[in-house]
Amino acid sequence: MSPSKSTMLLEHHLKQLKLPTMLREYLSLAAACTSDRSDYPTYLLRLCERELLDREQRAAERRIKAARFPVLKTLDSFDFTAQPSINEALVRELMSGQYMDRKENVLLVGNSGTGKTHLATALAFAACAQGRRARFFTVSGLVTAMLEAREERQLERMLRALQRYDLLVLDELGYVPFSKAGAELLFEVVSRAYERQSLLVTTNLPFENWPEVCGSERLTGAMLDRLTHRVHILEANGESYRLRQSRRRLKRQVRTEPPGSDGPSEGK
Ligand code: ADP
Ligand code: MG
Repeated sequence: MSPSKSTMLLEHHLKQLKLPTMLREYLSLAAACTSDRSDYPTYLLRLCERELLDREQRAAERRIKAARFPVLKTLDSFDFTAQPSINEALVRELMSGQYMDRKENVLLVGNSGTGKTHLATALAFAACAQGRRARFFTVSGLVTAMLEAREERQLERMLRALQRYDLLVLDELGYVPFSKAGAELLFEVVSRAYERQSLLVTTNLPFENWPEVCGSERLTGAMLDRLTHRVHILEANGESYRLRQSRRRLKRQVRTEPPGSDGPSEGK
């Protein structure tokens, strides 16, 4: 077979076999292996390794996209010194993802702006990178989607789809109270997840106030029971990061005002 024909056929087969990295790199790697006198199996091995590595990366990117994070946040950009109330050691342990193997839950409790959503996203992002399936919801968004699915007779299908995730993030429990039907649907999610998948719930509400948003004492009790049977609790009770940042910005502004100025546009 002529070299050009074998190259053409090889490229066709690599495409058919869905090996895009091998296709892209087989020539350059062949040159590299010739110059360092690697044998054929080593060449093939290195080619396979590159394909596998790229494949893992593409899959992780797909999982991250499918998780639908509102904003992508990782632990690198989280400043623990700004929020000393958060148990950093526990966060770092949770980053390993083993709690998901044990189907344990995580509860992030704290005031607004203390980094709950940031940490929840960082943990779920780590899960995606580890090959786990995660999905981010706001509690109100999830409840609304379930109510809609029920109207369209798609609820069971949606619940089954939710069960395929290793981790469900339920962000912002407590900001919006929901209807009786909504509370029951949320209970259904928590109850199906129990001992089968992990839930990561963020809330600004202490436990005693949960009945106010969930409606009934009995339902809340049953939900808390399942949620907290195996749970890691992270508490953030410092001040709001956003508030702190804007206060600092304001201070800097005031400091750089020229002497004799009235300050930032007051009374103008
Ligand atoms: P919460 O969900 O508790 O209301 P967020 O996670 O939404 O708070 O945090 C509000 C904003 O402040 C986000 O942009 C977040 O990235 C940032 N933030 C909060 N805490 C920290 C922190 N300790 N280090 C870095 N950024 C933070
Ligand atoms: Mg939040």
